[in-house]
Amino acid sequence: GLADELAELLSLSISNVRLREKLSAEAIRDPLTQLYNRRYMEETFQKKILLAARNQLPIGVIMLDIDHFKQFNDQHGHAAGDAVLVMLAGFLEAHLRGSDFACRYGGEEFVLILYDCSAENSSARASQLAADLRLKSAVFGGQDLGAITLSMGVAAYPQHGDQPEELLRAADAALYRAKQNGRDRIELAVQA
Ligand code: GH3
Ligand code: MG
Ligand code: MG
Repeated sequence: GLADELAELLSLSISNVRLREKLSAEAIRDPLTQLYNRRYMEETFQKKILLAARNQLPIGVIMLDIDHFKQFNDQHGHAAGDAVLVMLAGFLEAHLRGSDFACRYGGEEFVLILYDCSAENSSARASQLAADLRLKSAVFGGQDLGAITLSMGVAAYPQHGDQPEELLRAADAALYRAKQNGRDRIELAVQA
């Protein structure tokens, strides 16, 4: 009857809405860590820069990469490596303020965008992160796998650029120097 057809139509449209919600959530989040993905970060970063320009506020960028993660995977297995990535994502989220956000930039590389945070303050936040991480050790399958360390590169709007690409490039170059200088350290971008 008509009632059955209407009920069926309604349930179809509800499942369409659910599917669309699911797809859009997947398009902005990394499935493993649930952090924002790179594309979403770049779009949102651009919008935050416009807002910061209007309010004359700085934005800090921290690009960070796990040290010797290939070795960690080789030693403890890929599943343990995945568990560390999930743990690190939760740890990063816990260190953010409401106006900040974190993204999984690549495999074991993450980007933090810190609204209203200068390069100097961002470096201080990065140091605090490293210090807190030192107190944690990766536990997987009931086994203590020891602590991981991070190398980090810090840049800030407007000091090191006024476009996301430029700022991410500056943070990446600083991260590269942190690796070169021995890892487990923080480097600040050089003046643009
Ligand atoms: P470095 O200190 O120079 O950063 O050394 P690294 O070993 O961390 O760097 P490299 O780029 O040589 O290797 C990155 C490793 O990260 C290799 C890859 O297997 C691992 N990795 C990337 N994505 C994932 C992932 O989703 N899960 C796991 N378990 N490992 C991942
Ligand atoms: Mg690495
Ligand atoms: Mg890497």
